[in-house]
Amino acid sequence: MKLYNTLSRKKEEFVPVHEGKVGMYVCGPTVYNYIHIGNARPMVVFDTVRRYLEYKGYEVNYVSNFTDVDDKIIKKANEEGVSSAEISERFIVECKKDMEGLNVKPASTHPKATEEIDGMITMISNLIDKGYAYEKDGTVYYRTRKFGDYGHLSGKNLDDMQAGIRIAVSDEKDDPMDFVLWKPKKEGEPSWPSPWGEGRPGWHIECSVMSKKYIGSTIDIHAGGEDLIFPHHENEIAQSEACNDEKFAKYWMHNAFLNIDNKKMSKSAGNFFTVREISEKYPLQVIRFFMLSAHYRSPLNFSDTLVEAAKNGLDRILTAVDKLRELKATASGSMTDKDQEHAAEAKKLVGKFEASMDDDFNTADAISAVFELVKLANVTAEEGSLEYVTWLYDTITRLCDILGIVTEKEEEMLDADIEALIEERQAARKAKDFARADEIRNMLAEQGIILEDTRAGVKWKRA
Ligand code: AMP
Ligand code: ZN
Repeated sequence: MKLYNTLSRKKEEFVPVHEGKVGMYVCGPTVYNYIHIGNARPMVVFDTVRRYLEYKGYEVNYVSNFTDVDDKIIKKANEEGVSSAEISERFIVECKKDMEGLNVKPASTHPKATEEIDGMITMISNLIDKGYAYEKDGTVYYRTRKFGDYGHLSGKNLDDMQAGIRIAVSDEKDDPMDFVLWKPKKEGEPSWPSPWGEGRPGWHIECSVMSKKYIGSTIDIHAGGEDLIFPHHENEIAQSEACNDEKFAKYWMHNAFLNIDNKKMSKSAGNFFTVREISEKYPLQVIRFFMLSAHYRSPLNFSDTLVEAAKNGLDRILTAVDKLRELKATASGSMTDKDQEHAAEAKKLVGKFEASMDDDFNTADAISAVFELVKLANVTAEEGSLEYVTWLYDTITRLCDILGIVTEKEEEMLDADIEALIEERQAARKAKDFARADEIRNMLAEQGIILEDTRAGVKWKRA
């Protein structure tokens, strides 16, 4: 399996640090508003990377943070007259709902910056002790020129960068390229005690600390949108490698932008759609499929025409899966010679899907292979045996699952809701809240769901 490593600017064979295990860190959103569909692109892309790695048999430790202390959060909190924590908590909840809608699996850990301040103070202290950082009037700066490899990831050179920036006269840094690790408290801002006085961390340090704590000093894959390459990821490398004396990340993956009219979708430019508002127009599964229809390193233009095309493509797949499901109920027998021939053709297409994903997660080509499989199913399943139809159904739904496409019918999905209600009813009964328990029983009855209390627990059936 090969993936493109931003660090070497080449496709490289994927070999994780520990055999069979992958530690993956994906920089997550700053939570001060609903996420927009540009923010959703890395979530969908790297969730698909994770799903494919799991399909290949790797055990994936997937860590993605929420940046919950930041200027924009503080600004929004002050506008609303509430605490920063209230804003970030509110939008973490909303972000998780959007992720669920996009069928992005929850991370193994979703750390929050404000819960990791101690670790950040320890790492900053270590950097000061080693001479990589210095304090001035309550601000701690990272000394970029001391880190020899600075600029490697982004292909930038410190002198060129310095020539391109205006230096503020009041700047207290030793060098204009130094960046902030800790800043002193300002009125109306959240703060924490530290050896340098009350204050709060700079942005970059959180990811160095959380990736080390939840994965280790060296992570296999570090990922995010391409705007994070500089300065965020460059600074993370400088912090982590100076502190740990070990390579920070083996592979760096960056997704290209989701654009509108060929301009990056962003909150600051105002040219964005939130996932929430788009969900009123299209099922989010269509948005996910649309995002995977392009290679993750290619820019993707958002337009109704392209989303409609994705919707039609997805419908073709889902219709074929529905048809296979129906056939499973009526077909019989085991594979015939003809079925064997068709299955051999289908296996080649599965091979094509895997080869595409093995080639730097080329989901566009992988989806073409699924379309070919669907075409094959449409012409061969009708006459096929039960064994063949079942195998085809399992094969296509497995590939869909790697792409995060849900193929179950709505009725089957509803089962989970019924079970959740039954659980809630049990809890209500235990708490002697019989009114609520009866209410739930009636609600289910209205849906034609009949409950039966047995010794083995509650059984249910559709009327
Ligand atoms: P932010 O909340 O701005 O830190 O962004 C969270 C993630 O979304 C980062 O990985 C960004 O690189 C990514 N991102 C932001 N805007 C876009 C966009 N228009 N297209 C693709 N990725 C984006
Ligand atoms: Zn980060």
